[in-house]
Amino acid sequence: MTKPKVQLPVVGAGSLREDGRRNFVHPADVAGRFVKARYVVFALLIGFWAGLPWVPINGNPALFLDVERRRFFLFGGTFNAQDAWLLFFLFSGVGLSVIVVTALVGRVWCGWACPQTVFMEGMFRRIERWVEGPRNVRLKRNEGPWSADKIWRKVVKHVLFALAALFVSHVFLSFFVSMPSLLEMMRRSPAEHPTAFAWMVGVSVILYGNFAWFREQLCVIICPYGRLQSVLTDRDSLVVGYDAERGEPRGKASDANAGDCVDCKRCVVVCPTGIDIRNGLQLDCIGCTACIDACDEVMDKLKRPRGLVRYDSQNGLEHQPKKKILRPRLALYGALALAWGVGAFLAFRTHTSFEANLVRLRGAPYHLVEEGTIARNLFTLHVVNKASEEAAFAIRGREADGVSFRIGEERVVLGSLESRQVPVYVDVVVEGYAPGDRVVIEIAREGGETVTAEGALLGPR
Ligand code: SF4
Ligand code: SF4
Repeated sequence: MTKPKVQLPVVGAGSLREDGRRNFVHPADVAGRFVKARYVVFALLIGFWAGLPWVPINGNPALFLDVERRRFFLFGGTFNAQDAWLLFFLFSGVGLSVIVVTALVGRVWCGWACPQTVFMEGMFRRIERWVEGPRNVRLKRNEGPWSADKIWRKVVKHVLFALAALFVSHVFLSFFVSMPSLLEMMRRSPAEHPTAFAWMVGVSVILYGNFAWFREQLCVIICPYGRLQSVLTDRDSLVVGYDAERGEPRGKASDANAGDCVDCKRCVVVCPTGIDIRNGLQLDCIGCTACIDACDEVMDKLKRPRGLVRYDSQNGLEHQPKKKILRPRLALYGALALAWGVGAFLAFRTHTSFEANLVRLRGAPYHLVEEGTIARNLFTLHVVNKASEEAAFAIRGREADGVSFRIGEERVVLGSLESRQVPVYVDVVVEGYAPGDRVVIEIAREGGETVTAEGALLGPR
């Protein structure tokens, strides 16, 4: 039997009304394979982020951004302020990954890994469901008078929200304050660390407001990523979508002329951004997959094949030929990723475990000594140990005709990210001196690499 031509109705839905007012969304519960998988991913991600400051790698936390002392520990690497230029590769790498991932699998980041979704769905929504019950009970109670039952549930829910916000803010702060310091601060009076305490309160209030009230508005109004979606994806990117050809026209299950969609609106009521997936790809869709599980549940009951709402490309949903990987867009992104990879590899290769710079002392460029036969140049050698553990360094001048050295300390031992200023006197025989001559100091990390620091020699012409 031929189905009538597909005609999608335009339904005004979502979390914002046409006049700009909030349409508060109360998503219904849903069970299914994607929901289960997402809860596993959420638990792993919360454990991962909360655990990072506790897990030591090379003697330092896996993630510790010590802004105050300008030292940064990232997954075993130790960086200081002089390595800030490497951030370009970090940020551009993250940006490029987001572009490639979006082109391939759409908004998987939003639905599965974004902290907003992880904490909203994995913690705050669970608390709300636990204290206030399922959607229809919540809606009924919200519309009813302020009874004792309503008051205690609201109070308990918001107290738990506040505690959850405190937990998340402490996880966030632990990235910037070492874990021992954070635990010490928690035992002491806030008056002893007012700045950190103010940060903790500010972040907690923002998180509480966000997860208790603002919620999906952050994704719909503020987050720029959703707005970029239409330029980052193409008709072969994976999206959560509705198979209109199969589903339309909507009708009762008993109607032989109707498509597979029975217009039960389960996919709409489970949506955390309040949209109707049957209206096509929308900016508000965060790819959470709740509508897939909801519709699969309905199809199972009707004994029809799953996948009326599913992960597929737009071409797939419209039953057009699909291209998987060999697309011009992905070829371009692949070339960009390759260029980035080469640049990042070369940049990180230059990242040594220590740095040394030779700086001329202020004042006279040189002193004449030994009755004017020797020009003495005064320098300071600045050595920084960027490794995560203590290291010893041997310092010596590279031999050259007519040049001799006096080095303040020929061996220095520095703790992680410690630095030392070592005085270096370089004597040049005036007779053999020529403008443009340079002095080279070799600094060798014991059991490791050697770097050189150079400076220009000065003397009478
Ligand atoms: S859940 Fe499935 S059957 Fe029900 S309205 Fe949505 S698409 Fe149609
Ligand atoms: S339309 Fe579906 S995938 Fe998109 S946000 Fe709503 S429930 Fe999630």
